[in-house]
Amino acid sequence: MALEEERAEIMRWVLANAVEHEGRADVNAVVKKILAERPQWKSRIKELLPLVRGVVLEVNTMGANEQEKMLKELGGVPETAKEEKRGLPELPRAEELKSIVTRFAPNPNGPLHLGHIRAAILSHEYARKYNGKFILRFEDTNPENVRPEMYDLIKQDLRWLGLSWDEEYVQSDRLNVYYDFAERLLSEGKAYVCTCAVEQFRSLRDRGGACACRGLSPAENMQRWNRMLAGDYKAGEAVLRIKTDLKHPNPAVREWPAFRIVETPHPRVGSKYRVWPLYNFAVSIDDHEMGVTHIFRGKEHEVNEERQRFLYAHLGWEYPVAIQYGRLSIPGGELSKTAIVEAVKKGELSGYNDVRLATLAALRRRGFLPETLKKVIMDLGATLVDSSLSWETLYAYNRKFADLKAMRLFFVPDPIEILVRKTPSLNDVRLRNHPSNPEAGERIVPIDRRGSEARFWIPKADAVKWKEGDIVRLKDLMNVVIKRKGVRIEAEFFGFGLLDVPKIQWVSRGALEMDVLMPDATTISGLVEPTVASLTVPLIVQFERFGFARIERVSPKPLAVFAHT
Ligand code: GLU
Repeated sequence: MALEEERAEIMRWVLANAVEHEGRADVNAVVKKILAERPQWKSRIKELLPLVRGVVLEVNTMGANEQEKMLKELGGVPETAKEEKRGLPELPRAEELKSIVTRFAPNPNGPLHLGHIRAAILSHEYARKYNGKFILRFEDTNPENVRPEMYDLIKQDLRWLGLSWDEEYVQSDRLNVYYDFAERLLSEGKAYVCTCAVEQFRSLRDRGGACACRGLSPAENMQRWNRMLAGDYKAGEAVLRIKTDLKHPNPAVREWPAFRIVETPHPRVGSKYRVWPLYNFAVSIDDHEMGVTHIFRGKEHEVNEERQRFLYAHLGWEYPVAIQYGRLSIPGGELSKTAIVEAVKKGELSGYNDVRLATLAALRRRGFLPETLKKVIMDLGATLVDSSLSWETLYAYNRKFADLKAMRLFFVPDPIEILVRKTPSLNDVRLRNHPSNPEAGERIVPIDRRGSEARFWIPKADAVKWKEGDIVRLKDLMNVVIKRKGVRIEAEFFGFGLLDVPKIQWVSRGALEMDVLMPDATTISGLVEPTVASLTVPLIVQFERFGFARIERVSPKPLAVFAHT
């Protein structure tokens, strides 16, 4: 690879790191990432390091928008999962189509959770596999349930997942486009404005009949449409319907509504419009207008697709390749977006990132890694069957990734004091932050020692199991023999050499109180090494013998959020 190309690739890693961390890239994090993804560069790290440093300095002076723009121009976040992509089956018609265009089209009516990301990840990965285009489109034509904070939260979620989009659209900006097509359909007699009472319309429709509105001339329909736009009808008094097959086997497909009147102001565009397209209309127009070639969507959209095909036929368009997949669920993740929004409003949940949820915001907060979610989804692929994911499986995936990078620390839940007598001269210990990655550096764990006595804190849950005479090891430090158990444990030094005895995490001088927020929203309090105060957070760590967690804040009182053991 030429130096120029290498620099461009490094620039992409640095930009990606900056975008992920509020505009500031970190040299160590970037180097670690590059080495993990490009092991072939390991031998040349000395040469590359100054390059990375220089690029980080440059990127950190840019504004967030500039960083994002440049990252996009350079091709987005560098690919991290080469083998997985090779594993993606070819898309139907990929050969004959000149370029592949996919899209992720979330409704900004609630936070994304595990069930939503399949569409996002598959669409993105396929676009990248074929050097195509990936579009992000907010489908917000239901003014009643749009949550304004969701546009940003969803983008944050996608960035965190490492998905970069080439174009971004918001449907509430495109009403004039939809209106133009509505008028074209009306004038061609392919749609009509129906003012029938819903019940009456339905009973006719279910019998395969047509209502009187269906027979109106294009001119009459246009007049009604203009009256809809002008506000002459109230909500519910008129809808624009698409003509379909009146005898379609599924009555729900027949004469579907494409526009309705909504009087609720839209959080983005206020009361500028009162005639709003429904999902099936807006999605069809956009998929065609944006050149989407492949749609990934849940199989619950099967009937919608049948409806949409009538519109495509009216307009003489070819329907994109639609790939459907089953539902992906996880226990506790069955809350719908609207239920989550309600519970947050009522204060029953602390926020969209409440640790009890399976939202991306909650998973991120607990220290799950984006690589984990990507791998889970890629391994599942686009199967039609519903699949359920157990938390244990998710933990196992995450453990594999987190283990490679999480800093190790001692946290002592519910501590009890242990006094160790007859200790030889002891210095504060220097421990590796990661057992197999020397680049992660070291930290010092201070020891409270007076003369030949040293004091530590260890987990009470371990201590209650011991008897006098038991030998245990204060991990990475020394062995001790238990002499007496009481409100505190008394023990004696029993050598430094590694013995086959229980190894217990400990803290000593300067230990800090810390709370760990558990996945059921309870809190475990304990003591943590003083080095926590100087960490740059958030940081994913492994509390030895306790589990993986993400330290969320270090002051006033440190708080970590638990992921899994
Ligand atoms: N906005 C739709 C959804 O989130 C998109 C479905 C689709 O057409 O792919 O369900």
